[in-house]
Amino acid sequence: MQFRFENTYARLPERFFARVNPTRVAAPRLLKLNVELARQLGLDAEQLAGPEGVEILAGNRVAAGSEPLAEAYAGHQFGHFVPQLGDGRANLLGELVGRDGVRYDIQLKGSGPTPFSRRGDGRAAVGPVLREYLVSEAMAAMGIPTTRSLAAVATGEEIMREVPLPGAVLTRVAASHLRVGTFEYFAAQGDAHGVQTLADYAMARHYPEAAQAERKYRAFLDGVIARQARLMAQWMMVGFVHGVMNTDNTSISGETIDYGPCAFMEAYHPATVFSSIDRNGRYAYGNQPRIMLWNLTRLAEAMLPVMVEEWGSQEAALASATEALQGFAPQFEAAQLALLRRKLGLFTAGDGDLALAQNLLERMAANEADFTLTLRRLCDAAAGDDARVRALFAAPAAFDAWAVQWRARLDSEHVAAGERAAAMRAVNPVYIPRNHMVETALNAAVMREDLGPFEELLGAVSRPYEERAGLERFVVPARPEERVLATFCGT
Ligand code: AMP
Ligand code: MG
Repeated sequence: MQFRFENTYARLPERFFARVNPTRVAAPRLLKLNVELARQLGLDAEQLAGPEGVEILAGNRVAAGSEPLAEAYAGHQFGHFVPQLGDGRANLLGELVGRDGVRYDIQLKGSGPTPFSRRGDGRAAVGPVLREYLVSEAMAAMGIPTTRSLAAVATGEEIMREVPLPGAVLTRVAASHLRVGTFEYFAAQGDAHGVQTLADYAMARHYPEAAQAERKYRAFLDGVIARQARLMAQWMMVGFVHGVMNTDNTSISGETIDYGPCAFMEAYHPATVFSSIDRNGRYAYGNQPRIMLWNLTRLAEAMLPVMVEEWGSQEAALASATEALQGFAPQFEAAQLALLRRKLGLFTAGDGDLALAQNLLERMAANEADFTLTLRRLCDAAAGDDARVRALFAAPAAFDAWAVQWRARLDSEHVAAGERAAAMRAVNPVYIPRNHMVETALNAAVMREDLGPFEELLGAVSRPYEERAGLERFVVPARPEERVLATFCGT
């Protein structure tokens, strides 16, 4: 089994990580392999699914060329700083350069204790592993930057949670596992040289253009802010609620990372929260852009010592960092408005577009209209059929009144109805991993070792824009008795 691992992270100073191998498990069994992703990484899927491949994916065998390690990081969890977190249940196996020329981390998650485990057992359960697999692949299919899932392997061991649960290991593929919390880790120790080394590494890997700039650390900060602003717009426009937007779960590359109690909003409402540990709604749907700015402010703070070097004084560094952070809101708003326009079927930019979109969202909130399905059925309305979208509103007349304004705006553009509907169907997904469907799929896998429902749902969300016969149950929102109101971290 050839991996061609490279290990640039392992070449960083030793204080950046702990060298630690995965811990053996009793009876590895492949639950799912991402054949297409394997191919993109230049891996032989057949070999990966074979006995030696599965041993590697379970952590029972260290592949030739791999130098397993656990990364050190800190983080603000629910607003409170924790100076040392780190990979407590993950091993970076190494990096692979994909067919696209991009370097990817290959990480096992749930692969045993590390020096960063604190009181944890280093393990993950089948349910949360399959949840991350499903939701990350759904995000990728919708074109949203995210870590990917290469494989899920059952360990054949039970782990103790509130009840004993079957264990699993996820193979996660990421542009890198650098987090805002990685910067905070060195900054909190007054290790400015560590921050600089990390920033240089992050730049080389994710923002090579920034490295060429005259003020490269500012350019780096601008780069992270720009990518996260765009990412937040993308989350908001599919109703994604991350659930644990701690700074250790905020990536430097701009990918969605760490799928814990995440969920998709059904009925549109900005206050939507699912995570059972998010009691104050800090990470509610509508708060996400604000929280991301808060997290990026922690990154800017961590970067300050390096910025002072670059800008010559504390004042100048602060002014520069502040200016960079002030760029977040306008970039987020512009990205969101651009996406809203496409979702509403607009090809041009008009002054009243934001108000038009907000008006629809307000009506959706007041009428408990399903976010995803309303926008999808709006595509039919663009083609002249309003019946299905208006039925999603508690008071259908609320849609009709809005549709009058919408049609007036559409008429200002000269686009054929069919062309418009097709363009809208390419940006408004019909299949998202609806929470009750995810729950059903995970329960079948955990309770009955039946991966059928998981595969069916994965099949639906892997082609999210293409409505197909036989998949109707994945399109409709949960009935009241099916609703999943809370998700659990599931660590
Ligand atoms: P998370 O909430 O998954 O982002 O994890 C926060 C921190 O807790 C990270 O440092 C994880 O590595 C650590 N952690 C979570 N679950 C476990 C576990 N079962 N064993 C050891 N460490 C864990
Ligand atoms: Mg995490």
